Amino acid sequence: MEKKVDYDVITDKVTVPYELAYGPTWTRFMEGLSQEKILGSRCSECGRVLVPARSYCPRCFIEISDFIEVSQQGTLMGWVLTDYEYYGMPTKPPFLSGFIKLDGTDCNFLHLIGGIDLSDAEAVRRKVKNGMKVKAVWNKEKRGHIMDIQYFTLVK
Ligand SMILES: [Zn+2]
Repeated sequence: MEKKVDYDVITDKVTVPYELAYGPTWTRFMEGLSQEKILGSRCSECGRVLVPARSYCPRCFIEISDFIEVSQQGTLMGWVLTDYEYYGMPTKPPFLSGFIKLDGTDCNFLHLIGGIDLSDAEAVRRKVKNGMKVKAVWNKEKRGHIMDIQYFTLVK
């Protein structure tokens, strides 16, 4: 049995600065975003178009060098409403995250779903349905970052 000891403590934070190298494929993808283009990569073996663009096909295990601009519209395949805050989140809650299958692509793209009143979770549940069409809304200011797309909005 551990003996409990009372003692004074200080509480502080440790920060760890770091740099993440995008590499050539993500650099190209992010540069595309800064020009309001969403780039995918097409596998020469299976023909699948993957977004964000990637350097290899995870199914065929071959290098991909064929980049194509994909549609900025797609289908909502799944979503979640987040109403609590945690470290590293992309924006302040509440927010909707969605899996979006951009037209002509073969995988889901994770981003925010916006332009919706999120004050009533039940109303959100009634309004937002899988299979709805969505399209990208761009930030005016671009910085070559995934958040150059502000969010995807429901298409009427
Ligand atoms: Zn493939």
